This record gives sequence, structure tokens and C-alpha cells, in this order.
Amino acid sequence: MTLNELHSGDSATISRVRGRGAFRKRLTEMGFIRGKQITVLKSAPLKDPVEYRILDSNVSLRRSEASLVEVVSEEDFKDFLLDSPGRISGSQHRGPEVPRPEKVIEVALVGNPNSGKTTLFNRVSRSREHVGNYAGVTVDSKEAIFSHQGYTFRITDLPGTYSLSDFSSEERFVREHIMLKKPDVVVNVVDANNLERNLYLTSQLIDMDVTVVLALNMYDDLLERKDKLDLALLSKLLGIRVVPTISHRGKGIFRLLNHVIRVFENKDPDIRHIHINYGEELEQSIQRLQELIRITPSLTDHYSSRFISLKLLEKDDNCAFLISEAPNFMEIQDSAREEGNRIRSLFKEEADTLITDARYGFVAGALKETMKRSGANPGFSRSQRIDGILTHKYLGLPIFLGFLWLMFHATFTLGNYPMTWIESGVDLLGSFLNSHMAEGIFRDMLVDGVIGGVGGVIVFLPNILILFFCISLMEDTGYMARTAFIMDKVMHLFGLHGKSFIPLVMGFGCNVPAIMATRTLENRNDRLLTMLIIPFMSCSARLPVYVLVAGAIFPGHAGNVIFLLYMVGVVFSMLISILFKNILFKNKEAPFVMELPVYRNPGVKLIIRHMWTKGAHYLKKMGGVILLASLLIWALGYFPRDVEYSRDYEQLIAAELEIGTDPSAESIAVFQRQMESERQLHSFIGRIGVAIEPVIRPLGFDWKMGISLVTGFAAKEIVVSTMGVLYQADAGDGTYGSVSLQQRISEQKYSSGPKAGTAVFTPLAGMSFLLFVLFYLPCIAVISAVGRESGSWKWAGFVLFYTTAIAWTVSFAVYQLGSLFQLG
Ligand code: GDP
Ligand code: MG
Repeated sequence: MTLNELHSGDSATISRVRGRGAFRKRLTEMGFIRGKQITVLKSAPLKDPVEYRILDSNVSLRRSEASLVEVVSEEDFKDFLLDSPGRISGSQHRGPEVPRPEKVIEVALVGNPNSGKTTLFNRVSRSREHVGNYAGVTVDSKEAIFSHQGYTFRITDLPGTYSLSDFSSEERFVREHIMLKKPDVVVNVVDANNLERNLYLTSQLIDMDVTVVLALNMYDDLLERKDKLDLALLSKLLGIRVVPTISHRGKGIFRLLNHVIRVFENKDPDIRHIHINYGEELEQSIQRLQELIRITPSLTDHYSSRFISLKLLEKDDNCAFLISEAPNFMEIQDSAREEGNRIRSLFKEEADTLITDARYGFVAGALKETMKRSGANPGFSRSQRIDGILTHKYLGLPIFLGFLWLMFHATFTLGNYPMTWIESGVDLLGSFLNSHMAEGIFRDMLVDGVIGGVGGVIVFLPNILILFFCISLMEDTGYMARTAFIMDKVMHLFGLHGKSFIPLVMGFGCNVPAIMATRTLENRNDRLLTMLIIPFMSCSARLPVYVLVAGAIFPGHAGNVIFLLYMVGVVFSMLISILFKNILFKNKEAPFVMELPVYRNPGVKLIIRHMWTKGAHYLKKMGGVILLASLLIWALGYFPRDVEYSRDYEQLIAAELEIGTDPSAESIAVFQRQMESERQLHSFIGRIGVAIEPVIRPLGFDWKMGISLVTGFAAKEIVVSTMGVLYQADAGDGTYGSVSLQQRISEQKYSSGPKAGTAVFTPLAGMSFLLFVLFYLPCIAVISAVGRESGSWKWAGFVLFYTTAIAWTVSFAVYQLGSLFQLG
């Protein structure tokens, strides 16, 4: 019988995992090993994938993958585990106490995804790294320095891993960090809700023979369940000091640091290096390899020979290169192969499976002796109840779509109120400076350049904060992981992976972290494909442009137009994905094995803090790159000053005044406007605009729109600030504060050419412009993120080019077809 044949609510025992390579390894790490009990919880609203409960955690598998797991009823498994290896054997003390003169301790945080490493890291270092309630949030290592008890701690937050094998880039990264950087103490952060699976990683750290202190995190959950865990005994059994922590409340952290110091100074008597017993035969193989490895002292100086032997038996390719410097390299490799064959013929199993089994056996043994479960699990059942609604067969999908819709509407409708306040504040400041400062270049720069540019962007801060609030809410509660579960089937239709969904949603916030978040995808092609379509997720920087232009042209329906734009982006990304999947990446994708964490109530405070961290980034951008760009654009539009006008406007105005016309009369204003726009046309930016006009004219844009788009390459918000500078200055009649940028845009008219006198932003031209902004090249930060993450600038160039080609084609089609049917 296979797992796929079970129904919701059924339980069974795993008898075998078929399949090969990465898939199999991944399953093993999540606890899919022989003899483990598994329960079917439910299938996703679209029937696939299915959620299972194994080793105290919820994991989802696609049906096709579940059919590779063979299961039997529990009775048939009674006599399994009788002679399983994994008991604790031989140990050695770590030697005498040595006073260490150095006062710096290098600490690395290692642990399963979502175990609370970053929360701990933020606590001790007072930083605000990104935490979220789903696997794979930390994708980079982060370092912080702080002092405690006279020691300088240099602490590194590493990506989460389930094991230290060669399975994913994170695992390799963490393993290399431990092996090459050699931190003094590894703090293994363990989720108390999930001891069996978390301690599996600990067992690998034990094999590596590194100095470990175990932070038993989420201890609050364990207490709430009323489970009893004998910490002292567990410390003895593992040879590792176990310190309970509740990191999001900051509890137990000082004790943890004190223990790190004690262990670092070799003052903890319980700390010793234990050997996990892999059973007689495997131990024999290990011993044989160890003897061969010990010939090369330079090797054993750096790594434990037992660890290398185990890795060789596990056929871990990355470790093969470790021994390449050994003179008897060939001999070691041959012996490893021989031993592998010997084990296989003895047990009819691969050595790596036996090793994993033994590790789980060791963990199970240690827990059996130390843990008394009360049976109650309020956290889990609460989570189950919530999940019952949020991933419900019929309700799941509508709830999710409803949430998305609500998110966009809140962003626009709710954000509109503070937006108008800030807008009037900015206007007030502009007109105040305009009337109180001496006329001249400095005033023009301040009012038109700085306030026009930065002010145009800052008004969107509330909208952006609301959007970030919603994204943080999804991340921190654990809903984000469910969206991957709900959406896997749909994503699959488009050649994507359920896990691609999280980066794509994050893309609505900012494309840069979204591109980094693709690291959770194990398969390189899946990753690349996801990266290529992320730019179509309208990031928060595009929102100001949407709000401005949609608000100006479709005043009553701006919210709907914006929602439509987001959806067009999504639909296009899916189509493009199918296309690329079929031409660029024709191979299979990675398995969908994903942990679904328990729901947490992060509290409004935490969400607001996360929202603010992201918002602060936006503000920083405003002060830096946007300010610079605004000034540059202003200067390009301001100079040169000595323009030869086609008519002598000054004299025309003077003549009008002479005959007694009121200085504020329309006839004078017309002259002023004509003069200013003629001047702008001759300015540097005007010349650039005229040069690119042939390219953008078929899309229905005037040269100012063209320039705005070009400057948007630095950051999309700059499109708005450029428009602010160009259109605001256009008036040139000192009426700065009386009209908002939005109104100016809706009132823009062509001053010359065949369309003279008609509106620039017709609904059709506006739509064409909005679509162009949606599709065209992502900002420079995204391009460089793609280059970095894909490891090749070729892909970065590709993104740059193909998105712009799509933007042009779509806008062209919309504008030309629309004009044909006279929609404009
Ligand atoms: P990481 O993936 O290991 O870096 O984990 P994070 O630091 O991102 O935390 C994952 C989730 O667990 C977040 O929602 C935290 O707020 C939450 N969390 C962290 N520590 C604790 C704890 O001690 N108790 C409880 N109940 N939740 C915690
Ligand atoms: Mg983290």
C-alpha cells in the first residue's frame, strides 16, 4: 500500500521510501523513514498536495510523491526496532579545563528552519533581521557583534537546515560555514515542538565533533503542553548542554550565553563528545576508513575522521574533495566503495539509509528516556482548527483570494486618507518656500527639485506601509506557508512549484528580497524560472505610479484599475512561465516537500515592527537615491538657461501688462506656460526626450512620460518624482501649492504638434503607460539581485531585455488597437 492510497484521518507506519536521489534524501530528513507513524490530515482545496503529520510536524507532499512512500498497518510493524542501532556508546571527555586568553567567542546559530534562530539573533544583537513563520526566511548569513560578561561575541545567523548533507545550497552553506569558519561554539537552536526531527540535525553536529550548546527554544509551547523533559539527563545523553529558551520573549538568553562561555572555557563537566552507535557492521566500516584517513594528520587536524568516514559511506560527493589532499586518496575511495557494497549486500539497504535510521534511533532513544508527554497539545489542535478553515476544501481558495483583494483595497482606499494629509503638507511647504524665499536657482532647486521629487514619492508612504503590514501579517502568522500549499496545484499547471508562490507574493512588497527568497527552491531551474517572472509582480515602488496615474485618469475607479494591473501582471507571469518552461527549462521539477508550521499569534507589535523595518528601507531609499535622481533630473531640466525662444514672450507679457491687463489673467498665464514649456523642450532633458520620442510615440506617450520611464530604472518610484519635477515645474507661474500633481497630470495638454491642445493623459494613453510601468525593466537593484542569485549576468541581461520588449509590445498593442476602435 502506498501513502497516496490512505484517506484523510488514516494512520499507518512507513515501511519503505522508494524514489531516488534528492527526493529520497529530502523525505528522510523530514522523518519519512521506516517504522515512523504517519497520519493523513487533509488534502489541499484543489486536492493536491496532501498534508501529513509526521514526527510532530505537518508536512505536505504531492500525490505523485506520496505514491512513492510505502506504508503498512501498525500491527505489521510490531517487531521492527528490536535490534535497531542508535544507542549511545563510547565517550570521551573533552580534556582538562583550559583557561583561554582570547576574549572573543565566535558563535554560529544552526538549526531547523523556523526554529527561532533569527529571533534569538535579533534579541542578543538588538538587530532587526527578518523573521517569518515559514521555512527559508533567512537566506543569507548575518553577523553581529555584542558583548556579554566581558566577552565579545561574534554571532552568525545561518539559514535553517534539516540536516547537513549535500541536499540543498543552504545545507552546503551551513556545513561549509561550520567546517571552514570553525566557530568556537555552535548554538544549535532546537524547536521544542519538534524534538525528534530537530535533534536529527543535532546528531549530525555530534558526528562532526564541534562544540555545541543546545538552545531548547519555544520552551513556552512545551510548558503549555505540560510535557516533562529531563533537561539534565538529556544534556548528559547528548553530551551537550541543553538550555531552555523562549527567544521571542527574551527568556533564557542570558543563561544560554553564560553556558556558551562555560563551554568555551571548558568548564562544563557534562560536555563530552559522544559517539552515536551505528551498529556493528557500520562501525566496522567506519573504523576501516578512519584508519586510512588518520594517515594524513593535516586532514584530521581540521575534521573529525569519524565524520569524514560517515560522509564517505553516505556517498556525499562534497566530502570526497575533502580527502583529495590525502596521499592515499584512491585507497580511501576504493575502500569506501567496497564498504558500501558490503553493507548493501548484508542489509539490502544503502549505507546512508542505515545511517539515517540509526540517527533517528539515537534521537528516539534519548527522548524515550527523558521525555514524558502529557498527550495534550493545545498549540497543535488550535493550529488544526485554524487550518480547518483556512485550507478548507471549498473555503480555502476563496478566503485566500478574498484576503488578496482586501489587501489591495486597504492599501489604496485606507491609504488614501493619510495620503491626502501628507500631500497637503508637502504642497503647503512648497508654496511656503516659494513665497518666502528669494527668487533664484536655489529656491527653484529646493521647490521644484527636492520637494517636487521627493515629496511626490513620500506621499505614498502610508500605502506602502499598509501593504507591508499585510505581507508581514501573512509571514508572521504562518499563513504564507499555507498559500504555497493551497496554490501548489495551480502553480504546477504553469510549470512552477508551490514554493515559488511565496517569493512571488513577496514580490508585491519588493522584488529584491523576493529574488533572494527563491533560494528555498531546491531545483535550479525552478529557481531561475521564478526569478524571471518575479519582475511582473508589481512591487511597492510601482504602486505610487499606479496610484498617481490611475487616480488622475480614473478617479472613481482607481482601486479597481490598480487591482486589475496587479492581476494582469500575475496572469502574464503565468503565461510567460509556461512559455519559458517549454523552451528554456525542459526538465523535471523538485519534489514538494514542505513543512507547514503551526499558526502563531505574532502580536500586533511584532507585525508593526516588521512593517516598519520594511518601511524604513523605503524611507532610506527616498533620502538617498531618489533625492539624487530628483536633483539630477531637475538640473537636466533647468539648464541651459539661455534659450532662444521662437517668440519674445517677455515682451509680449510686458505689452499685455502695459495695456492694463491684470497680472493673474489667463492671457498672461498662457504666455508663461508656452514660454516655460518651450524652455523645457530646449533643456537637456527635453533634448533627450525628443531623441527617444520616436520610440515611445506609438505607445501614446509624450516626451515627459518617456523621460520618467527612463529614470525609473534607478528605482520605480523615481518615475513619480520625475513626473513631479517635470509637470510641476511646467506651470512656471508660481501657483505651486494650488494644484496637486495628480490634477496637473489630468490637465496636461499637448502644447504643439499634431495633437496640440488635446489631453496628454487620455484614458487610453494612461492605460498604455500604466501597463508599460508594470512590465518594463525592473530597477537596477533587482537586476543586480538576479545577477547575483543566478550566478550569471547573462540572466540579468536577459531579464532587462525581455521585460522591456514585453512592455513595449503590450503598450503598443493596447494603444494602437484602442486608437483604432477610438477608445481614447
Ligand atoms: P528561524 O527560521 O529559525 O530564523 O526562525 P525565526 O526567528 O524566523 O522564527 C520563526 C517563528 O517562531 C517566528 O514567528 C517567531 O516569532 C517564533 N518564535 C521564535 N522563538 C519563539 C519561542 O521561543 N516561542 C514561541 N512560541 N515562538 C517563537
Ligand atoms: Mg531565520
